[in-house]
Amino acid sequence: MCDRVRRARAKERASTTDADAQDDTRRGGASWTPTATTREGVPTRLRGAQAKGVSWCWATRANGSICGARADCENSCLPYCAEHLERGDEALRVVKHPVFGDKILIATRDLPKGYKTVYFGERKTWRECGRAGRDHAMHFRSGGGVIDPCPLGDAAQLQFMSNPGPNEVSNNRSTNVFFGDTRCPKRTLVGREFILSRDVKKGAQLLQWYGADWFNSRDIKRLDVGCDVYPAERKKRKQERADHPNREPSRAKVLGDATNASSRR
Ligand SMILES: [Zn+2]
Repeated sequence: MCDRVRRARAKERASTTDADAQDDTRRGGASWTPTATTREGVPTRLRGAQAKGVSWCWATRANGSICGARADCENSCLPYCAEHLERGDEALRVVKHPVFGDKILIATRDLPKGYKTVYFGERKTWRECGRAGRDHAMHFRSGGGVIDPCPLGDAAQLQFMSNPGPNEVSNNRSTNVFFGDTRCPKRTLVGREFILSRDVKKGAQLLQWYGADWFNSRDIKRLDVGCDVYPAERKKRKQERADHPNREPSRAKVLGDATNASSRR
């Protein structure tokens, strides 16, 4: 498939306010009905849908229950146990796009707004990533290089989020919460927190806005990525907005400073 029409992959880096980064049970979408079963002694957020704090594994099982294990703090600074660090969060799955043929990321069950994930990989300099790595590299702490998820394969699930097409909306965005130190040894596992900005239905794609620079620097055309099997939420049409004139439009919080296309550290 021609590069000019190939859907883009890695990543614009939106920043958020401190408030956005806080654990807040109010983030649970209005339509969200908790089905998770919590494990005694594990602090939770989102009305029991996910473990809270960095000492416990953030991953959840396909049936909606939380993992309940301690984070594997001996081998990484990420909020995942050894099992989920290796297999990824079971709430998500890497699959092949039926039309484009490349890997995408979908929800294995209904997920609530506010559900957190981590974009993780090895800490490197921009140059050390190589061409493939630069397409997927995520901005890390200022002066700390970038996060290269490629060596981790499918376990680093978030690298497979597509960019929403012109008629679609993103549903997962980065925050300014990082895992790992600015100057930790090269190739140490580090990460950046992501949070769902809207409810995501089972089977739907997780989408991240890469940023205009990502496309401009690669001369790649944005295409809609939703399909019958793995839908992507569409932008609201004018008529729908006219039907709800009092509804506040959401404020875009995209900041250009975190776009990896310009993060040549
Ligand atoms: Zn786990």
